[in-house]
Amino acid sequence: MGIGETGLDFYEVKESDKRKRQLKIFDIFIEISNEYDLPLVLHARDAEAKCLEIVKKKSNIYDVIFHCYSGDVETAKQIVAEGYSISFSTLACFSDHHQELIEHVPISNILTETDSPYLSPFKGKRNEPAFVEETVKIIAEKNL
Ligand SMILES: [Zn+2]
Repeated sequence: MGIGETGLDFYEVKESDKRKRQLKIFDIFIEISNEYDLPLVLHARDAEAKCLEIVKKKSNIYDVIFHCYSGDVETAKQIVAEGYSISFSTLACFSDHHQELIEHVPISNILTETDSPYLSPFKGKRNEPAFVEETVKIIAEKNL
């Protein structure tokens, strides 16, 4: 069991008043996670470093998961330094950037998922939970 997904999506949301609202709601989720001592599952898009900065400051929870991570390598390394986990989705099956990320994150900090029905590894086909196998193959190949 965990709290989330929660976090910041600055890719979808550009207006500052809406971003402020996201920050406010994010704080509430962090409080709930702290209160119930449950892992925090983060959705961070174009806001990975900002999310990290906030959870470092406000979360008592060691178990923080950056779901469907697509940020840069540097932020990924900082996430790992905090002992948090990074979840790679089926995006890794067709994205060079995600494959590079996988090379830089220790296996002990890697989780995986599909984010289905989105991000199918097979063109024109709806993503399914079973396709997580495709991401696992990439992780096995890239994270030596
Ligand atoms: Zn998400």
